[in-house]
Amino acid sequence: MATQMAAKHAVSRRLKDAIFGASAACRAAVEEHGEEHVTNATIGAIMDDEGKLAHIPTVERVFRSLPIEDYIAYAPISGLPAYLDAAIDITFAGNHPAGYLGAVATAGGTGALRTAVDNYVEKGDRVLTSDWFWGTYNVICEELGCGLTNFKLFDERNNFNHESFASSVDSLLKTQDSLLIILNTPAHNPTGYSLSSADWDHVLDCIKKHAANEKKVHLLIDIAYIDFAGEKFETRAFMQKFSNLPKNILTLFAFSMSKAYTFYGQRCGALIALSSCKEIIDEFGEISKYAARATWSNINRGAMTLLTRIQQDAASYASYEKERDALYHLVQERGDIFMKEAAACDLPALPYKGGFFLAVPAADPQAVCDRLHDDLIFAVPLKMGVRIAACSVPRAKMYGVAEKVKRALKNP
Ligand code: PLP
Repeated sequence: MATQMAAKHAVSRRLKDAIFGASAACRAAVEEHGEEHVTNATIGAIMDDEGKLAHIPTVERVFRSLPIEDYIAYAPISGLPAYLDAAIDITFAGNHPAGYLGAVATAGGTGALRTAVDNYVEKGDRVLTSDWFWGTYNVICEELGCGLTNFKLFDERNNFNHESFASSVDSLLKTQDSLLIILNTPAHNPTGYSLSSADWDHVLDCIKKHAANEKKVHLLIDIAYIDFAGEKFETRAFMQKFSNLPKNILTLFAFSMSKAYTFYGQRCGALIALSSCKEIIDEFGEISKYAARATWSNINRGAMTLLTRIQQDAASYASYEKERDALYHLVQERGDIFMKEAAACDLPALPYKGGFFLAVPAADPQAVCDRLHDDLIFAVPLKMGVRIAACSVPRAKMYGVAEKVKRALKNP
């Protein structure tokens, strides 16, 4: 008797979630010891210093004020046009790089990443991203019949590893005619790293060289954490470098409302495309609309309207930015506490610049996390190290964590 009903290509699909085990252990510890004694560094959402899920009051006020039609009516397949304009404006903070722009509404940033891989990667080809990376990239690539290859994010001095990036691009483009590269910056998950202006120059020099040899390059920038990375214009300055690129370099941005609007569960994002060629943006519009129809048909209308309402009203936008900045500073302060203490105790933490997470390399991440359980600290064991969520650990509990990680590394 058959015990599997799945099609051949789906039968081995299993979602391995490193976070699940860690958060289950954390819940059990809370039951046994009480919340005040437990440090939960596993959650990928901002918790306030009282341990409650944080939200932005302007987002709540405007969302609750919407008419019922905005919650229940269908939206256009590509998204509400005013939402797409707002998402583009917010992505570039009004300073659009030169070129043609297009956008499609997606179910969160995840939907934007999926749409890009679906539409721009040949079956059987490899996508390139760094070796420290958000595991969902791999799930998306595998599901869509391609694979993921990693370059080393850091060199031995913890700077962006230009050599590894360039040699990975060179080697993939020996066998592929096109390449999609995913870079999660600024405020990368899981390290908190942001590419510098010089890093970007290296990346662009490398891909321009291949574009001159007729290769197609798709540069997909995952900006999920951009509003937790620093000042609005500074964090977006790199985007000007994408003006007037050759037409066989397509720049794509995965925009997400999950973090910057504390709207995780409402599943609203966009894939934004920039090209020096109008036909390529027209093609983007057609193929992304087709992909949307086949995956989610259309997305959350209320969430799209919310973004538009906030962005189009100067007073609402000002209060929204103020409240979001307060959350950014809260998370940054926690990350800075950890990094300061890491430096003081010689813990080799990776170079955190901002964002929800920071990471410490480890030979046996699971053993280090298990050892941290003795101190009632719960972190996520990744393949190459331990991830600590600055977004979820209250400031008071962050003091002392670096030293305990250091101890756990020494005696796993
Ligand atoms: N990119 C990265 C690196 C993330 O960590 C996340 C969320 O955890 C996302 C994108 C997008 O999230 P969402 O699909 O909720 O917008």
